[in-house]
Amino acid sequence: MGELRMSELIDSFNRVHRDLRVSLTDRCSLRCNYCMPLDFDKWLPSDELLTTDELMTVIEVATEHGIDQVRLTGGEPLLRPDIVDIVARIKALPNPPELSITTNALRLAKLAAPLFDAGLSRVNVSLDTLDRERFTTMTHRDRIDDVFAGLRAARTAGLQPIKINSVLMQGINDDEAPALLKWAIEEGFALRFIEQMPLDAGGIWNRATMVTAQAIFESLSPAFTLSPVPARGSAPAEEFYVDGGPATVGIIASVTQPFCGSCDRVRLTSDGQLRSCLFSKDEMDLRKILRSETLSEFDIRAEISDRLQKTVLAKLSGHGINNPDFVQPKRPMSAIGG
Ligand code: SAM
Ligand code: SF4
Repeated sequence: MGELRMSELIDSFNRVHRDLRVSLTDRCSLRCNYCMPLDFDKWLPSDELLTTDELMTVIEVATEHGIDQVRLTGGEPLLRPDIVDIVARIKALPNPPELSITTNALRLAKLAAPLFDAGLSRVNVSLDTLDRERFTTMTHRDRIDDVFAGLRAARTAGLQPIKINSVLMQGINDDEAPALLKWAIEEGFALRFIEQMPLDAGGIWNRATMVTAQAIFESLSPAFTLSPVPARGSAPAEEFYVDGGPATVGIIASVTQPFCGSCDRVRLTSDGQLRSCLFSKDEMDLRKILRSETLSEFDIRAEISDRLQKTVLAKLSGHGINNPDFVQPKRPMSAIGG
């Protein structure tokens, strides 16, 4: 019997949404200074976090609306105790999406093999420096060896591709772009630099000092020949072949050249709020629906479906970081889900 396919998630600018970012927790084992201040203490109460059954309901309804890519994130998604089960359940859905996890890799040495066995095929690891002292300065934890162990385990387990996300900050690691790229190519990892966005709870982002995509390109150019890879769909990375390829590097200009015009993402926070953008001012409460004591299971799913469509339909044309009246979201990146 053919499956009933619900309408796609299309916004008023005709952008079709296929990518759901799911935050599994707002907690983290690091304190990256562009993401979460050292003294951050506004944690979500644990009874407000979606249970795995609740998460699965939202993800399943989303896949019925054409979501075909799900990325698990956080906070640190590998801190979720049942992460392996979550991966297995997503891969067992009737329309299983492409699945990825964005992680700081601290628990990957232990989890890479079970995650692979549960159906995960790829992983994105965040690493901004190869230097122990800098790592400790940027994350406030002396854990770089755990990241390297996690990366080795990911490779041994067969996770492929392994992508590395790096954020550069002036005066801290902005001289390290060539070394990071050389290392990533040698290791067979796909590196992407991401411009720092105004999403830290401490308000340290500064337009004047942020390291721009242009500056990253210029710092790589003396060491490598970069030639643009023709643009692909909604992929945000501005990709370049390195020295003629096949290795590539991504430089994501989220602030200076936003890719909002082709954005296909929608986000679910760990406490069950739907956001059409990292920078949304509004959220749609799904937790309340999921926990309704009066609605039937069927009606809950119908409501989730309706709210997904409404959230996407109300999406603005862009994130507005460059507008004079831009206001940073109240939640930090760690609580929205990067
Ligand atoms: N803890 C996991 C990790 O670090 O990969 C997943 C969550 S983290 C919020 C996801 C991604 O967001 C990381 O690659 C991180 O570097 C990036 N990120 C966090 N704060 C950012 C900011 N202010 N600007 C740009 N990227 C940021
Ligand atoms: Fe944690 Fe990831 Fe934010 Fe770093 S970027 S503090 S690892 S959530």
